[in-house]
Amino acid sequence: MTKKHGKHHHGHLATASGVTKSPGSSHPASGGDSDPASPIRPAEGILTVPPGEPFDLAGVDADADGGLDKDWAKEALREQRARIETLQERLYAERRRSLLLVFQAIDTGGKDGTIRAVLQGVNPQGCTVASFKVPSTEEMDHDFLWRYHQRTPGRGMIGVFNRSHYEDVLVVRVKGLVPDAVWQSRYGLINDFERLLAVSGTTVLKFFLHISKDEQKARLQARLDDPEKHWKFDPADLVERKSWDAYQAAFGDALTRCSTPHAPWLVVPANRKWFRNLVIARTIADTLEAMDPQFPEAPKGIADLTVPD
Ligand code: ADP
Repeated sequence: MTKKHGKHHHGHLATASGVTKSPGSSHPASGGDSDPASPIRPAEGILTVPPGEPFDLAGVDADADGGLDKDWAKEALREQRARIETLQERLYAERRRSLLLVFQAIDTGGKDGTIRAVLQGVNPQGCTVASFKVPSTEEMDHDFLWRYHQRTPGRGMIGVFNRSHYEDVLVVRVKGLVPDAVWQSRYGLINDFERLLAVSGTTVLKFFLHISKDEQKARLQARLDDPEKHWKFDPADLVERKSWDAYQAAFGDALTRCSTPHAPWLVVPANRKWFRNLVIARTIADTLEAMDPQFPEAPKGIADLTVPD
């Protein structure tokens, strides 16, 4: 299914995986308005926010499960993990491009669980995970993208953002932490930042995990009811829940304004964890496959060498 990305360039400038056309690359269209040269391959069941069009988050069924069977899906997840593992080794060996996985969701939306379930088995040396909390004083003393840019994956790496630069148009907006004009200017800056990453050889996969308000209630209650889950419960989550509608509006704007051909937003129905895990794992595996990482060419004459005694 996948095509080669043309000749490999030596030196430090990788061919952009998401933007520039490489000789002879004509990936089969993945549907929607996505960039034809983009390797991003959303799995069936995931909604790609069409760039440049308003997106109605309220219209997304968080319960969707694609009609799949839960036990079958758990088995299928194992297969997708194995694909990710194999392709990651190639990405690492090739050392030309990288993959950034961005996870955003409302509290209890399942970011941690997804990262654990989907990236199990991935070589830890080829993967970095950054969790973004309330910014430190040093971080606040810089432009809002500073702390995120430092954690983007280097060549050959898969980088995971547990929360991301989107917090600066989400919690910051909902809590009114900066003047309106400041967060409003950020959508364009975020698009520029993601474009910089894309032209520099980083494929950006942005997953929004969509749960319903009822599901959040059930998950918070479960944390209260089970002593082993108490550590996950934060009383502040109950306060945040009161701002549910404001968060949905902020998510809606971020999805609408920051879905671009080079970094589209992928909305994942996430009430059912097993469905969420499978479609995300499949998307990562299919995208890595479309990136088509290659082992570097062996030095000439290596096959004739023998190891001396
Ligand atoms: P998590 O919920 O991700 O497991 P925490 O419970 O420590 O981890 O929550 C991190 C907190 O940091 C969240 O409340 C989030 O809104 C906040 N946060 C993240 N980024 C920012 C930011 N840029 N500005 C203000 N608050 C932020």
